Amino acid sequence: MLQLRPNCEYCDRDLPPDAAAARICSYECTFCADCVDKVLFNVCPNCGGGFVPRPIRPRTAHRPGVCLGSHPASTRRVYLTKDRAEVAAFVQSVRHIPPDAR
Ligand SMILES: [Zn+2]
Ligand SMILES: [Zn+2]
Repeated sequence: MLQLRPNCEYCDRDLPPDAAAARICSYECTFCADCVDKVLFNVCPNCGGGFVPRPIRPRTAHRPGVCLGSHPASTRRVYLTKDRAEVAAFVQSVRHIPPDAR
């Protein structure tokens, strides 16, 4: 199940569970759309994969036991620990490869 992490790893902006700007990679590394578009160019700095919009978990239990109340978002903030210059170089080395060919 997705953890629904609470922040952008790069800029630390809040990304609440209903944030339309949340982006995730296949490992659920979580960033905001601004960082993905303008800094990371659709390259996850942790795994090199591309991003998709994070789905929004329903706040209402339309089916029993499956909603944000039953499975709340994570509150543990995650921070990118890699050096920003190293990330920029990594992104440059990968961004020209389409995500489905990486
Ligand atoms: Zn960000
Ligand atoms: Zn990743």
